[in-house]
Amino acid sequence: MRWIRSLIPTLREDPADAEAVSHKLMVRAGLVRQLAAGIYVYLPLGHRVIDKVNRVIREEMNAIGGQEISMPVLQPAEIWQQSGRWDAIGGEMFRLKDRNQRDMCLGMTHEEVVAWVAARELRSYRDLPQIWYQIQTKERDEARPRSGVLRTREFLMKDSYTLDPDAAALDVSYNAHKQAYCKIFDRCGVRYVVVDSDPGMMGGSGSHEFMAPSAAGEDDVALCAACGYAANVELARGVPAPGGLPDAAAREVATPDARTIAEVAAQLKVDASSTVKSLVFMVGDMPVLALVRGDHNLHERKLARALRAEARPAQPDEVRKLLGVSVGSVGPVGVKGASRIVADQSLKDGAYVVGANRDGYHLVGVTAGKDFACEWADLQVALPGEGCPKCGQSLSVERVIEVGNIFKLGTKYSEPLGAMYLDEQGQQKPIVMGSYGIGPARIAAAAVEQRHDADGIVWPWAIAPFHVHIVPVAVKDATQMAAATEIEKLLEGAGFDVLMDDRDERAGVKFKDADLLGVPIRITVGNALAKEGVVEIRERATRADWKVPRERVLEAIRKIVDGLAMG
Ligand code: ATP
Ligand code: MG
Repeated sequence: MRWIRSLIPTLREDPADAEAVSHKLMVRAGLVRQLAAGIYVYLPLGHRVIDKVNRVIREEMNAIGGQEISMPVLQPAEIWQQSGRWDAIGGEMFRLKDRNQRDMCLGMTHEEVVAWVAARELRSYRDLPQIWYQIQTKERDEARPRSGVLRTREFLMKDSYTLDPDAAALDVSYNAHKQAYCKIFDRCGVRYVVVDSDPGMMGGSGSHEFMAPSAAGEDDVALCAACGYAANVELARGVPAPGGLPDAAAREVATPDARTIAEVAAQLKVDASSTVKSLVFMVGDMPVLALVRGDHNLHERKLARALRAEARPAQPDEVRKLLGVSVGSVGPVGVKGASRIVADQSLKDGAYVVGANRDGYHLVGVTAGKDFACEWADLQVALPGEGCPKCGQSLSVERVIEVGNIFKLGTKYSEPLGAMYLDEQGQQKPIVMGSYGIGPARIAAAAVEQRHDADGIVWPWAIAPFHVHIVPVAVKDATQMAAATEIEKLLEGAGFDVLMDDRDERAGVKFKDADLLGVPIRITVGNALAKEGVVEIRERATRADWKVPRERVLEAIRKIVDGLAMG
């Protein structure tokens, strides 16, 4: 491809609103432009990258027996009503009415459509298993579209669905996907960890997430370097150092003007780990008290799992109205109005300082089970340095981008949508489903997050928009241009994707753009050609340079590519 005839609008400056490195660099390198919040145009280079990611995905999906299909973005409400998700999903779903006032929505995922097809087209155990996939546009009215293409309201997803006769067969399909995903991320040059995750709104019995470490991520995972334990902090259970005070009789003490944990701990001269945060949440219109240690934070997903219901933090005026105390004074002893008290497991041992349900006072020496009754659950966000739940060694916590995930759905969708089959005994049974997603844009952005330097992107070979970037220094010099063109043809003939910067620009400008674009190999055709008969080959990642006789360019490039080891 020739630069002059291409749309590659590079920018010197970062876009004003961008924080994530991938957002800045993908805009500056002319890959994408934002049309509206979370809605992006992919320009030619951006499109090429996504196309290459998709190629890798297709190959690996086909390799495990996936059949590519295409399901509609525009969907009738009925199938979502049958699965129960029409009501369960809130503002994230784009809803609309057709001209006959029928409810419709834009697909955010396709379990319902898959179950609808299966209900009609699969009849017997002989029709199973099946793997169907598509690489297709999803629409989600994300609450906070951010970080460039990492979280957009319209995005491409590879979503696949497995249909199996039973749980054991689902395990096989699930593991095949797990392995295919590892191959996809390996090939795309993205570093990742596979973690246990919370199936959340997808329902089902097991799930894993593929997480690419990056500061731009929105998730945290707890990792154990010693035994390989890895879990989303939504699920991870760190083993904290013991807290609490020695057991004693509970007594009330004055704590004037102490509102925060830090203030209470300071006044009473105890560590925050000897205090309890009493948090009020609303489940519908019922207040619930959730307790975590003063030095811990509550994870709302963990609470929702413990309660088996979604909960939201209560407003201060709700707390006053329903429990009759102010937020800062709430405590578990003698509290009135809370329908349930759920406490984090770390509060099982020791005595603690808790709110006294009376402004200006706290209770010291309170023991769960003795001074108040409660349910036990894991509520606390795992912290770095806590013990690994498997081996006891120290956990680390890393920020990550979720690039893919896999779910065992079971029969959550097949039952309501009537996706049944006849087994070998002629008995009707629900098909057992799995669902598996990957975001190509997140792969591209995660690669940029993990592989860049001060000058620009450093693309992994497999998903680089081009393999080789040729820079003729003086395009008006006919010999240089002829040599550059010859090399371009030679490399293209050998199967490389080549970008030739044929702009009549200063070499410095072209080199800067080459670094920004991040094509793995740059070939400079300049004065050295006339003087020494050589061109200069430079590897973007290492900035290693070689002077190579022009007739040995192909050989040299092949050698470098071998060295890149697909990275
Ligand atoms: P998140 O927790 O980040 O919102 P999700 O759990 O909603 O993700 P899925 O519905 O399982 O994601 O989608 C599968 C894959 O699609 C994700 O792993 C991610 O790679 C991609 N994806 C999801 N939401 C978006 C989005 N808003 N923009 C870009 N890619 C997305
Ligand atoms: Mg989401």
